[in-house]
Amino acid sequence: MYKMRRYEYDVVVVGLGPAGASLVYLLRSSGLKVAGLDWVDASRVWSKPCGDAISSSHFDKNGLPHPSGEALMQTVNGALVYSPSEEGVIKLTGENAGYMIDRSKYGLMLLREAEKRGVDVFLRTKALNPIIEGGKLAGVKAYSIDLGELEFRGKIIVDATGSGGAIRRKLPREWPTYEEPPETDFVVAYRKIVELKYEIDKPDYIRLYFNTDIAPGGYWWLFPKGKNIANIGLGVQLGRGYPHPAKIYRDVLVKRPDVGSEVRVISEAGAKIPTRRPSNTMVWDNFMSIGDSAYTVDPIHGGGMGYAMTAARYATETIIEAFTNNDFTAKGLWGLNTRYMRTTGAKQAALDILRIFLQTLTNTEIEWAIKKGLAGVEEITTVFGEGELKLTTSFLDKLNIIVRLIGKPVLLAKLITVSEYMKKAKTLYINYPEEPSKLPVWVTNVESLYADYEKTVEIPF
Ligand SMILES: Cc1cc2nc3c(=O)[nH]c(=O)nc-3n(C[C@H](O)[C@H](O)[C@H](O)COP(=O)(O)OP(=O)(O)OC[C@H]3O[C@@H](n4cnc5c(N)ncnc54)[C@H](O)[C@@H]3O)c2cc1C
Repeated sequence: MYKMRRYEYDVVVVGLGPAGASLVYLLRSSGLKVAGLDWVDASRVWSKPCGDAISSSHFDKNGLPHPSGEALMQTVNGALVYSPSEEGVIKLTGENAGYMIDRSKYGLMLLREAEKRGVDVFLRTKALNPIIEGGKLAGVKAYSIDLGELEFRGKIIVDATGSGGAIRRKLPREWPTYEEPPETDFVVAYRKIVELKYEIDKPDYIRLYFNTDIAPGGYWWLFPKGKNIANIGLGVQLGRGYPHPAKIYRDVLVKRPDVGSEVRVISEAGAKIPTRRPSNTMVWDNFMSIGDSAYTVDPIHGGGMGYAMTAARYATETIIEAFTNNDFTAKGLWGLNTRYMRTTGAKQAALDILRIFLQTLTNTEIEWAIKKGLAGVEEITTVFGEGELKLTTSFLDKLNIIVRLIGKPVLLAKLITVSEYMKKAKTLYINYPEEPSKLPVWVTNVESLYADYEKTVEIPF
């Protein structure tokens, strides 16, 4: 008679992209019985489309090996940020600041290392539904191409399935893990990895181009992966009726000689990115979500690999704590929320305020800001490092000149408001509630802060 296979684990990690693979790697020596599953096969691990750029700081901080060998395609020593006309350029430099990686090679290396230490990795295995018993999450039902129908049961089930949130989406709607952010909080991004006919000058510099005619609500990029291979793509804000980025690439970008001079296309694909503050809670009873599934992406530049790793590190610490205390309730897993929200989450909440404002700027405003050095290196470093827009005297002086020149005094007032709301959002997240019972009040406060902000800065949509 047919019998469904049933596996019992301490921790079941669904999705083995940057979030899930980092988590199983970090849990490899924990002594816990850990399973990781993903529907891709070994050749397509971490195959979700990406710009493939990551800051080198994420690796040591999160206890992960730096990419090397075939996984490291190009060391990044800086970035060039272009104005719409491309006459204004901000140059950001930093020796070994980042890497262009081969995602599949790096991801597979993490999984193999985890397997060596006893983690069970099930590839070609799709999680279908959560198993809810007595109102509690007990596991997931899955289908494996090799083994057929499976059941994975565990004390903690982790959703690391990316922006689709394959498990989170199917949990009971009355749980606070259910959220439905507006479409405008997402970007749809599309990229090609191409071999080029020409040699890229300074292949150790990634290029970001801000131009609302090409990438409305986002930017387009050219990230070299060596002298003649590049990852080229663009992100466009959703929910505004803008054309799909693949169409813009085909109709507009490809006409540029630096983009269109292709010898061959190595890969092309698009996907949705949550460019917003983190989800209200990353945990509930027996449940965690990390990475894009918990919206842990940087709202301004859309980079999410490093923060998926950060979330995985905090999840690891929290899982070990939960097994020590034998408490897998929302309260027992709450440490993931307090660890993430009060640090990285607070910065991302502030950047979300800035993102909402930046998406209203016109090309003329961006042009002046970049050309006149308004968005100087110092301001950019403070914004990304601390999630703060510091309006110092020299900054305000510069801004005053620009405001007079482009005849938009409203802009100055708006920027002051933006900076105040960034501080307020950061403070709210630093004071993330100590326990689940206080979550509803906190969520109400967050929602009213953002609603109030959008009214005050008159977001024109
Ligand atoms: C075009 C583009 C460019 C980007 N550029 C950058 C960049 O340059 N730098 C950067 O840091 N970030 C970038 N990002 C964002 C980055 O790709 C994501 O933030 C990051 O991949 C998130 O990792 P994750 O593990 O949370 O999710 P994912 O990478 O989406 O991984 C989720 C995994 O879950 C698996 N899965 C999904 N559903 C199921 C299921 N039901 N059962 C089993 N397995 C399942 C998938 O196969 C996948 O392997 C970009 C995104 C896009 C779309």
